[in-house]
Amino acid sequence: MTTIFSKIIDKEIPADIVYEDDLVIAFKDIMPQAPIHILVIPKKPITNLYSIEEEDQALLGHLLLTVKKVVEKIDLTSGFRVVINNGSDGGQTVNHLHLHILGGRSLQWPPG
Ligand code: AMP
Repeated sequence: MTTIFSKIIDKEIPADIVYEDDLVIAFKDIMPQAPIHILVIPKKPITNLYSIEEEDQALLGHLLLTVKKVVEKIDLTSGFRVVINNGSDGGQTVNHLHLHILGGRSLQWPPG
């Protein structure tokens, strides 16, 4: 399925990219919900955690390692949160798996 994130991967629309390699891309969220709000996505068009498969295991680990690289790169030492919204009740609006990195302020728990 083609989404706005496919267009970012294909460089058809601009994004403020903070990290990229062969498998993943990380860019700033266009509507930040915290002072730091970065999305990390696989280049493979996986919809969400409902649709991951065994063969995606290494890619999923790579996504988390990318989170670490990103927070080190931007020197986010005070803490951060990683969120994956899945499906409509989960608040997912873009049907391409993405990890939200949120930080730069004290985050509340539980989320809404
Ligand atoms: P979710 O609600 O979990 O599906 O998150 C989708 C996120 O994508 C939202 O936080 C949006 O602000 C963000 N978003 C949508 N379009 C763009 C875009 N063109 N560039 C950067 N972030 C985007």
